[in-house]
Amino acid sequence: MLLCPVRDCHQALAREERRVICARGHSFDIARSGYINLLQPQDRRSKNPGDTTAAIEGRRRLHDRGVTRPLLDAIAEIVDASPHDVVLDAGCGDGFYLGTLARQIGFDAHGVDISVPAVDAAARRYPGCEWIVANADLFVPYADHTFSIVLSITARMNAPEFRRVLGDDGRLLVALPAPVDLAELRSRLQAAGRDRVARTVETFASHFTLIDQRRASTTADLDAAAVRDVLHSIYRPMRSDPAEAMRVTFCLDLLLFAPV
Ligand SMILES: [Zn+2]
Repeated sequence: MLLCPVRDCHQALAREERRVICARGHSFDIARSGYINLLQPQDRRSKNPGDTTAAIEGRRRLHDRGVTRPLLDAIAEIVDASPHDVVLDAGCGDGFYLGTLARQIGFDAHGVDISVPAVDAAARRYPGCEWIVANADLFVPYADHTFSIVLSITARMNAPEFRRVLGDDGRLLVALPAPVDLAELRSRLQAAGRDRVARTVETFASHFTLIDQRRASTTADLDAAAVRDVLHSIYRPMRSDPAEAMRVTFCLDLLLFAPV
C-alpha cells in the first residue's frame, strides 16, 4: 500500500485516474508515462535531484550492450525470487535490474528513486512495474511489512525504513561496488576503491543479520564511447585525458540479509 509522504500524515494514498490522494487531501500527480511523483518542495532543492540525464543515458547504453548482464544474473541467483514475491527496489535508477527481473520471474515489482528522469525512463521501459519518484532517505512511502524482498543496488541505504517495509520472513539484498570495481579507471583517477562490506554490515546490524555474501565480477572490452559512458555513470565526465578503448572490470559485493 502506497502512503502519503507528507511528514506527520503517512495515510494511505487512493489512486484516481491522474493522481493519488490521501484522506487529508494531499495529492500527487501520475505522470503520462505512468510513474507517481511523491516529491515535496523540500526534496526539490537542487534543480535535478539524483541522477543526471547524461549519467542515466550512459548507464542505459552499458546495460543495452550486455555489460551488466552477469551482475544481474548473480543478483537473481542470490535473491532467488519467486512469482509470489512482492519486491521493492529502493534507488532503482532507470529500473534495469528490477524491470528485467520482474519480466523474467513475474513478481510484483515496485521501484523508488529520487530522480525524475531516471524513473520516467523506467516507467517507459517497464510499464508492468509500479514506479515512484520519492526521497527514500527520509521515508519509504509504503505501509509496514509490504514487501517480501527489498533490493538496494549501489544506492543509498536506509536500514530502519528497509526493515519497516519488509515482512518478518523477508530478505534484503544490498549490492555495493567492490574495491576492484572499475579498477582500470580508478587507477587513473587516483581514487582507490574502498571495501564497504564491514561498515555496511555494521550499519545494518541493529535491524538485519547477514545470511549470505558473494562477489559478482565481470570484465568487458569497451570502446572509447562506452568508457565515456562509464565515466558519466560515476560522475567523472571531466577526466582530463580523452577516453580510450580498454578492458574494464565491473564488480559488486552482494550481501543478503534477514531481519533480526
Ligand atoms: Zn497526506
